[in-house]
Amino acid sequence: MDNRTIAAVATPNAPAGIGIVRISGERAIEIASAIFKPVSGAPLTESKGYRAHFGDVYDNNEKIDEAVCLVFRAPKSYTGEDTAEISCHGGLYVTKRILRAALDAGAVPAQAGEFTKRAFLNGKTDLARAESVMALIGASGKQAASAALNTLDGNLSRRIKKCADALIGVCASLAAWVDYPDEDIADVGGEDMLPVFTAVRAELADTVRRYDCGRVLTDGIDAVIVGKPNVGKSTLMNMLTGFERSIVTDIAGTTRDVVEEKIILGEVVMRVADTAGIRETENVVENIGVSLAKRRLERAELVLAVFDGSEPLTAEDEEIISQCRQKRAIALLNKADLPLAADRKIIADAFPYVVELSASTGEGGAELEKTVREIFSADEFDPNSACLTSERQRQCCINAISALDDAISALQGGVTLDAVNVCADCAINSLLELTGERAATAVVDEVFSRFCVGK
Ligand code: GDP
Repeated sequence: MDNRTIAAVATPNAPAGIGIVRISGERAIEIASAIFKPVSGAPLTESKGYRAHFGDVYDNNEKIDEAVCLVFRAPKSYTGEDTAEISCHGGLYVTKRILRAALDAGAVPAQAGEFTKRAFLNGKTDLARAESVMALIGASGKQAASAALNTLDGNLSRRIKKCADALIGVCASLAAWVDYPDEDIADVGGEDMLPVFTAVRAELADTVRRYDCGRVLTDGIDAVIVGKPNVGKSTLMNMLTGFERSIVTDIAGTTRDVVEEKIILGEVVMRVADTAGIRETENVVENIGVSLAKRRLERAELVLAVFDGSEPLTAEDEEIISQCRQKRAIALLNKADLPLAADRKIIADAFPYVVELSASTGEGGAELEKTVREIFSADEFDPNSACLTSERQRQCCINAISALDDAISALQGGVTLDAVNVCADCAINSLLELTGERAATAVVDEVFSRFCVGK
């Protein structure tokens, strides 16, 4: 492992109340001591771990800031190495200047995710838990955050380890049988393995299913708002995002761009695009918006089709209805604060979900929220159970499931037990790759490259 001492600004690159410069490695305390002088006068190099010191930060004898320096001693730190964290005033200039002073004193700039990578390499965390750190940082909703926290606690790793151990248990006897077929190792037969393979497979399939459901809460889904001009799409978008973002006017066709916003409806994270009214138009600029909207509609996972409930439906509305036919869509009968003039039956026949709503008063918003939750089974998602937090982890599970399928059909087809052993081994490898116990260096590097610098 790289034994150089690393340093990075751990807080965002923006003015803030507090900024933190993190230094980790064999020389961390010595480097911190070169730039930070405690007011107590006691040398930082003699500090015990878990100590906070108040003092001044210097760059070449020039005082830069007053700060607090936290000292952690290996192995009792996040990285498992000696670590110093200087909490200074969170100005961009100050944090950068302190980082530079640390680099001048002998540290090297930390790569993305290097602090957590060192924690992994020092055995402080496994790969799945390390990934959940990133998921926790990226979480924008309560459910997503608790799911990530849960994985950080090691629940997923324990569950996967249990599956791997069950397979290792049956495979160990199988391997012995394969290697010494003449010995009386006895009792290794399909009837013992099949229930284990099937149970582990079911457990993994359940984990994947819950991930797909949880993904809705973490990554979010692509949603799109469609409707002819003036039905209230921009007003709806503003209602959903809670502030004036799109231009709302009475003149048909004013929303020309596809504006995208990340919003949370219920617990479902949606990347919603407010599109120009989908309609044929002579206006070239508007046409660009229209074709963008059509493309966005094609790949959307959820369509919010808006109709003006206060007016009879028109041919343009019919066109919207037909475009939504193959899609997962909710019809929104907008302007519910005005008397209903649209034919509700036509809408109800064409859409599995109809919500009456007033985008300008917000009435019906709760009903919309409930419908979205229902569609994405968000209520089924239990953040307290073991959650996968990345596509990588999901892929490992899928690979293990497919290897188990091979093992099961080999068993059922009466194929020799050594072939079964190869398949089961493949499944075990995928599971240990998930937790990081057997992950290749390239996989580990790839995981941490997606982290931010300073984490
Ligand atoms: P868009 O062209 O579909 O984006 O429609 P806008 O959001 O620009 O709205 C068109 C007009 O309808 C504006 O005058 C809005 O104030 C009005 N409007 C939108 N939603 C409602 C609603 O729920 N009730 C009423 N009464 N008017 C609304």
